[in-house]
Amino acid sequence: VVTLRAELLELVPDEARVSDGVSVLEGHSADLTYHAGRMPDVVVFPTSTEEVAAVLAHANRERVPVVPYGAGSSLEGHVIPVAGGIVLDLSRLDRIVDVRPADLQATVQAGVPRSALNAAAASHGLQFPVDPGADATLGGMAATNASGTTTVRYGGMRAQVLALEVVLADGTVIRPGSRAVKTSAGYDLRGLFVGSEGTLGVITELTLRLYGIPEHTVAVRASFPDVGAACRAAVAMIGSGVMVTRVELLDAETIAAVNEYMDRTYAEAPSLFIEFGGTEAGVAGDLEATREIAGWEGCDSFEFETQQEGRARLWEARHNSFFALAARSPGKASMSTDVAVPLSELPAAVEFARARADARGRNAVIIGHVGDGNFHVALTIDPADPADLEDAKALNDELVEFALARGGTCSGEHGIGLGKIAYLEQEHGDLIPYYRALKRLFDPNGILNPGKILREVR
Ligand SMILES: Cc1cc2nc3c(=O)[nH]c(=O)nc-3n(C[C@H](O)[C@H](O)[C@H](O)COP(=O)(O)OP(=O)(O)OC[C@H]3O[C@@H](n4cnc5c(N)ncnc54)[C@H](O)[C@@H]3O)c2cc1C
Repeated sequence: VVTLRAELLELVPDEARVSDGVSVLEGHSADLTYHAGRMPDVVVFPTSTEEVAAVLAHANRERVPVVPYGAGSSLEGHVIPVAGGIVLDLSRLDRIVDVRPADLQATVQAGVPRSALNAAAASHGLQFPVDPGADATLGGMAATNASGTTTVRYGGMRAQVLALEVVLADGTVIRPGSRAVKTSAGYDLRGLFVGSEGTLGVITELTLRLYGIPEHTVAVRASFPDVGAACRAAVAMIGSGVMVTRVELLDAETIAAVNEYMDRTYAEAPSLFIEFGGTEAGVAGDLEATREIAGWEGCDSFEFETQQEGRARLWEARHNSFFALAARSPGKASMSTDVAVPLSELPAAVEFARARADARGRNAVIIGHVGDGNFHVALTIDPADPADLEDAKALNDELVEFALARGGTCSGEHGIGLGKIAYLEQEHGDLIPYYRALKRLFDPNGILNPGKILREVR
């Protein structure tokens, strides 16, 4: 009997890059969350678009499931090979094809981590702004339409992707988009593949926008009497036209966890971490306007950092909040809610979330990209206690219901994966037949990341 691995070795002739070693399979069987893992049959590490196309064409003929894999940092079971088969680990498609400073663009292979693109862009005084908390790959970030702390100013991945190279399930290579910064040419397939979570095609190359690094940057930490006040201040800042590049909420429990984890002494009160960038005069004006707005909501501490080192310390605390919570609950699994609401609904939504988490007695922290109306309740779950998982899911149900009733969405940035399929149906039940039709069009045999976004359609 010819094994799947032997067949794949014909296409990717390198023993080290077609692996069924237990540790490699285990490393591609789960994500960082509560979702149950499942081993793939084999993991392939392609180094070219041609290899991706050859593997997909073979898998399509043989009806073998294929799960694209970037850095595995997604949070809803996206990368778990629930039907077994091949995990296509794209981390070795890691070439920065070119950086074109005059166009404010770069073209990269899908496995390039965002930190590597930023390092290459920085040598031209440029940056790539989308910064999910993990050092994700740009292909994975496009596939989940990721965003981050700077989305309030620059937009999320869909706003950054100008063009893609995508391999379809049968091995066909297509190139939606162009290097022009705008286009009205035809249906927007580029936008469709962004956020498609590896269910419609495998992204092998991306052309992305870059931005100048602002001349002056100031980071602020402002604390408030309660989460509602902090959210109202954030919404007022956005409405006032102040050019914030970041405005993030950390509630009192998050700050306490960060203090423990990182040995800091921040006041344990709901806080906004804010950043401005621009000219020296512009930033100074924005800072004063923000201080005044914060004052309206009873801000009791407003501290700012102008030096790179101080700013980095502040954002490091923000980026470590997920790990700070995990460190508080060793042996527990994590779950993160991800609703987003219209800005006017944000203060009430966050207050509701805090009240419901407290009423359920949950050890939960709230972290918000509040300038985008998006926040996470990060929960820890006892993997040995099904009732605990049910309770956490019931809390998520309540938050999603609250958000949908106010014109919001079940997922601002993490995506659907396995964990939010029922919420997607609740949010967009009338669209599911069209989603299924698209899936059948691009992946008629249902080999690409089956069971994600949509219930199994094989
Ligand atoms: C601590 C922490 C903080 C986070 N903060 C944020 C945040 O602020 N904002 C945010 O948006 N997310 C956040 N995330 C989630 C995660 O970082 C993002 O979802 C990220 O975009 C995933 O990228 P990845 O390379 O890890 O992709 P993976 O997790 O490997 O894959 C994600 C999905 O994309 C598919 N995929 C991967 N590569 C490709 C490809 N080349 N072609 C087609 N499909 C592909 C996979 O099949 C899967 O469905 C956070 C995660 C962690 C652990």
